[in-house]
Amino acid sequence: MNHFELKGGELHCEDVPLAEIAKAVGTPVYVYSSATLERHFTVLRDALVGAGLKDPLIAFAVKANSNVAVLRTLANVGAGADVVSEGEIRRALAAGVPSERIVFSGVGKTEAEIAFALEAGVAEINLESEPELHLVSAVAQRLSKRASVAIRVNPDVEAGGHAKISTGKAENKFGVSLAEAERLYANAANMAGVRPVGVACHIGSQITDLAPLEAAFRKMRALVERLRAEGLGVERLDLGGGLGAPYFNQPTPPEPRDYAAMIAGVMDGLTGIQFAFEPGRMIAANAGVLVARVLHVNERPEGRKFLVLDAAMNDLLRPAMYDAYHDIRPVKPRSGEPLVYDVVGPICETGDTFTRDRLLPPLAARDLVAFMTAGAYGAAMSSEYNSRLLAPEVLVRGADYAIVRPRPNYNDMLARERAAPWL
Ligand code: PLP
Repeated sequence: MNHFELKGGELHCEDVPLAEIAKAVGTPVYVYSSATLERHFTVLRDALVGAGLKDPLIAFAVKANSNVAVLRTLANVGAGADVVSEGEIRRALAAGVPSERIVFSGVGKTEAEIAFALEAGVAEINLESEPELHLVSAVAQRLSKRASVAIRVNPDVEAGGHAKISTGKAENKFGVSLAEAERLYANAANMAGVRPVGVACHIGSQITDLAPLEAAFRKMRALVERLRAEGLGVERLDLGGGLGAPYFNQPTPPEPRDYAAMIAGVMDGLTGIQFAFEPGRMIAANAGVLVARVLHVNERPEGRKFLVLDAAMNDLLRPAMYDAYHDIRPVKPRSGEPLVYDVVGPICETGDTFTRDRLLPPLAARDLVAFMTAGAYGAAMSSEYNSRLLAPEVLVRGADYAIVRPRPNYNDMLARERAAPWL
């Protein structure tokens, strides 16, 4: 469920008309609903706790939406943060996420990032390889610290979905094999700079079927039992993120309560474990939209109608990058027969096409449209390609809204660059 609805013939975010935000802030603009963010987080937490998983650490995947106001909204209802860079750690801390709820993941952490994470006191560093284990131990020793680490396992499970967001097959760059994890865990227990606290896995994103998750989680449970049988302590089992969000016209993901029940079933009887989760998309995707304006409708003699928007692939990369489908809704729908459009942005690439042959209500120049389900991997993946300014971000709460990332200006853009001395 989300809080973007038609009221009085126009699309609102909670109690604010999207047209009002577009008028005040300009387009393209990302708009997020606080109520939806909070709801998605609490539905997941209640499902997990209701299934008997006590005190879960739900670390929101900051990569999905890294806006500090969004992170603070989630932190206020108890979310932690799953981070993959120093920048994300800084964002999580700036948002008030307690360091003991921050999990540091990622395949290539630098020495400086590891040192920063240790100084910040993050809950756990998820290690993805043997060289990283040695690096973390060395950095921690230099700082006279002992890093709490988890070994990220690649359980070699096909999660379905787009190849670019599948992470749990042996051929992917993430994590180590189950056998390797056992060896590294035992080694880590004897190293001065680290303390192994758990094991982690994350097999992909936009997963719409519980079966691959269940297969991976069964392997993880067996691993915990093997480690314990060897006399090694395991306190935390990080089951990653990846549960899909309901994108319009796409396979429906499982309900959080079914996900939670599946986990409770797989983990039945396993005691003394805190479960951690790293959800991103399922919390943020349907909590945000990208509002754009129609620049013009370019009707070709052969009949194709291009709806040219002021938003482009630099603002919302998912269609170009993952062939992703976003529901597109007029902010003030006109009456009339639906028409078939190709919806495109102004960037000089054919890839800057949001969709082809899409049946939409009739639209005209200056109309506003909303790309639904754009709250995850939307603004976070945006760029200034074609020297376009980053789209601003707005957070709504009830009848209020605030600009939580203003649109930069061209002076800001140019001021970041320098002339070489010989120019
Ligand atoms: N955790 C890790 C390690 C990830 O790589 C990702 C996404 O790629 C996530 C969590 C979040 O995944 P999702 O947004 O599908 O829940």
